[in-house]
Parts: sequence; C-alpha cells; structure tokens
Amino acid sequence: MLRFGFDNTYARLPARFFARVLPTKVPGPQVLRVNRGLAELLGLDPDALASPEGAQILSGNVVPEGAEPIALAYAGHQFGGFSPQLGDGRAILLGELVGSDGRRRDVQLKGAGRTPFSRGGDGRAALGPVLREYLVSEAMAALGVPTTRALAAVTTGASVARDEMLPGAVLTRVAASHIRVGTFEFFAARDDREALETLAAYALARHYPDAVGSGNDALALVERVVAAQAELVARWLGVGFVHGVMNTDNTSVSGETIDYGPCAFLDEYDPQKKFSSIDRGGRYAFASQPNIAQWNLARLAESLLPLMDDDEERAVAAATERLDRFPALFGAAYGRVMRAKLGLTGDDPADLTLASDLLTRMAANGVDFTVFFRRLCDAAASEAADDGVAALFTEPGAWREWAAAWRQRLGADGAAPDERAAAMRRVNPAIIPRNHRVEEAIEAAVRRDDLGPFETLARALERPYDDLPEFEHLRQPPEASERVRETFCGT
Ligand code: AMP
Ligand code: MG
Repeated sequence: MLRFGFDNTYARLPARFFARVLPTKVPGPQVLRVNRGLAELLGLDPDALASPEGAQILSGNVVPEGAEPIALAYAGHQFGGFSPQLGDGRAILLGELVGSDGRRRDVQLKGAGRTPFSRGGDGRAALGPVLREYLVSEAMAALGVPTTRALAAVTTGASVARDEMLPGAVLTRVAASHIRVGTFEFFAARDDREALETLAAYALARHYPDAVGSGNDALALVERVVAAQAELVARWLGVGFVHGVMNTDNTSVSGETIDYGPCAFLDEYDPQKKFSSIDRGGRYAFASQPNIAQWNLARLAESLLPLMDDDEERAVAAATERLDRFPALFGAAYGRVMRAKLGLTGDDPADLTLASDLLTRMAANGVDFTVFFRRLCDAAASEAADDGVAALFTEPGAWREWAAAWRQRLGADGAAPDERAAAMRRVNPAIIPRNHRVEEAIEAAVRRDDLGPFETLARALERPYDDLPEFEHLRQPPEASERVRETFCGT
C-alpha cells in the first residue's frame, strides 16, 4: 500500500484561493521514471510509486488518502501584458508533504486534466515537455540551483492534440510551494485586501518564517523575495540557463526556478541569446534576466502596496526602497558566482571587470560556456592546460591576453593550484542538459518509444560535477547539424 503522509495547509485557506477539482481519468497509465532519491526524501516508497498502484496515483486515476486535490487561482503579466485570470489550467495540487529534511513541499500533478482555470486548453501535457521538465529541473537541482523537482513521469495511454497527435503524459512536480507573483496579482486585481493579507502572512510563514513578526508582512515578504530572486537569477547566469518565459505567473515567491517550458542552456556564450519561439522580441534573453526579475518583483510590490502603509506615498517609498536593493543584491550574488567559477577568493571589485572582460571575449569568439569553465579548472591546476582552453577561441590571443591578467590575480590569492582547481570543479559543471541531447532523448521517447536516451541523460545529470567517462558523449557541444535554435512552449 502506497501511503502519503499529507499535511495540507493551502487547502485550508479561503475557498476563493483555489478550486476543488478531481484529476480526469486516463486509459492506460504507465510509469516511465520515478525519482527514487526524492521519493525517499518525501517519505514515499519508490518501488510502490513505480508499481501499477503508483501508476494509478501518479496519473490521477486514483486519489490517494489524505490528498485534497485543488487547482490554484493566479493571474500574471505575460510578456508585459496583464491577464487577470490564469490559474492552474492543467495542474492539480494533491497536497503537501513534510520531508525527512523537515521541509514542506507541494506535490502536484501537471497534465492531469481540465480545471475551472483551463480556459480553451485541454488540461493535458504532451510527453516531450514532461520529459524536458523532468530532465532540466532535476539537472538544476543537481547543479545546486533552487528549483522545483520532478518526482515522476508517467504516460497516460491517451493522445493529446498539439500541432500533431502526441502521447499524453503527467509530471509529478514537487515545489516549496506554488505561490507566484501572479497569485498576489490575482487578488490585487480584485481589490481583495483580505485575501492579500492572508496570502502574505501565509507565504511569509511558509517560506521566510524568521521574517514573521515585523508588523509589516507585506514589506517583509517583498524584501525577502527580492533577495531570493536576486540569488536565483545569479545562479542561472552562472550555469548558462535561459528560463525563456519569465512571466510573473512563472515567478515563484519561494525563489525556486519554476515552469520549465521553452527553457534552454547556452552552448556558446551569447548574452543576447533567446531560444523560445514565443519570445519574439527577446524580452527574456539570457542577459536580460536580472532586469526582468526586478520588473516582476515590482509587480509583486505593487500588488502589496495597500498593505504596506495606509498612506500611499509612504507605501510607495517603502516598496521602492526594497526594490532598489535588487541591483546590489544581484551584483553581490553574481560576484560570488563568478569569483567561484574563476577560482578567486576575496572580494576585489576588479574581479567583476575581469569576469566581464572574459565574457566579452567569449562572446566574440563563440566559446562554449560550459566547456570553457571546465577547462579553466584544468588551467588553474597547470598552465600546461592552456592550449586546450585557447583552442576554444577563434582568436586564441583573446584567451592568452585574458589568461595573463587572470594568472596575475590568482597569484595575489596564494591558494594551492590543485586545491583551487578542485574547488572550481565543484562549481563549474562537466555536464549540463545540452539542448540537442534533451531533444534527442525526447525524440527517441516520442517517435520510437525508446526511453534509453532519456534514462541515460537523466542518470548523467545526477552528477554534473564529475567527469564520468561513460557520459563523455553527452558533454560535447552540438555539431552544427545538431544545434537547437528554437524551443517551444511547454504546452
Ligand atoms: P504556462 O505557459 O505553462 O506558464 O501556462 C500559462 C497558463 O496557461 C497557465 O494558466 C496554465 O495553466 C495554462 N495552460 C497551459 N497549457 C494548458 C493546457 N494544455 N490546458 C489548460 N491550461 C493550460
Ligand atoms: Mg506557468
């Protein structure tokens, strides 16, 4: 018997926060993968999850004891325009589990059928996007980037209609919560002050319990979410991640990466890079992500203004002061990320110039982001590895000039080369989910029923900081013919 120790709190909030809705049954559920480590963390038996009984639950056919299925209400700014009514159109929250680490997490079925928020949609997910979210969210977790997780992927035995008929699937998503900036916007758009107060108190207690009791939950929450998002986006830039659809409904107040749709990792470094086919203007391009995060945070602060102070001017001043902290917080977090990547300790402000000079040279020379930083670890251990780095540049002199400045800075640090290289290898991954490998895994599963490449890639991504020889082929940048130029929204 599969037992979930649900302990639900969101379902205790006022009825207008969600809709109670049962998943829609599917004809032939089959488990593709269970995340064993995550299952154990959540107190679930991985073998039971992978069993036929588990398939019934993970597909939504059977609602486990203690679950209280709900679809959450939220709004959101999408590509800058406000939609007052979005909500979980194809995701159903089963309930919350407190893991063996003491943390509370949502367990949600994504693709489990229509809800009152589905609008024109079918409430379903296609297999490809489910596998992509599984691979990329778990890769991010292994890389150490705050993120929602994937507990399981199942197929439904039914097809879904997209541009073509595709196999349907359900992803079991696990998150610190599913409260988004757009959840606050939903109630702000309805002038529902009471709901905003309830939600702010709830979110603060759930995610930032040490900030409870200041007497101004709204302000405390904005302050904390500003810091969490600054940290998050700095981590994204450190691994070359492009979220692709940073709408406010895809911005979690917990500071986790959420909603893996048209996301992608950089191959060659290009700050203007965007992959998403729906992001025509490049609003969510790689280097724009910090500014967009700050823009999204302003939407959160705006929604909470009425709670911050009865005097509007004072509320705006207090909110602005918190929002204005973002650039410095982001800069500090980004500085930590880049110093670690470059093997630098201390906090010499000139380090950021060294980093940006490097990135300019990488962009001009089409240098692969991940391969470069991994080889830089070797160069930190021994100058003999320099040729291998130089070979990544179309103009090797661009590397040699920069390397001279870098070595001079390393000399000022005085760490032992081997230790420095080892520390760098713990922050510069050997492997990321390369777009062409993710596509290859999806194609094999969707077109040929072959889950081999997905399984291999999922295993390789569990240990991103190790050079495991059996995964060598998954580490290489794409050949010109393999290159993925565009990704599509996760619907
Ligand atoms: P996303 O682009 O996944 O962030 O989704 C934006 C909004 O569209 C959310 O309210 C989703 O619930 C909704 N949505 C996306 N795909 C579907 C679908 N297949 N059926 C119903 N609603 C959907
Ligand atoms: Mg979304």
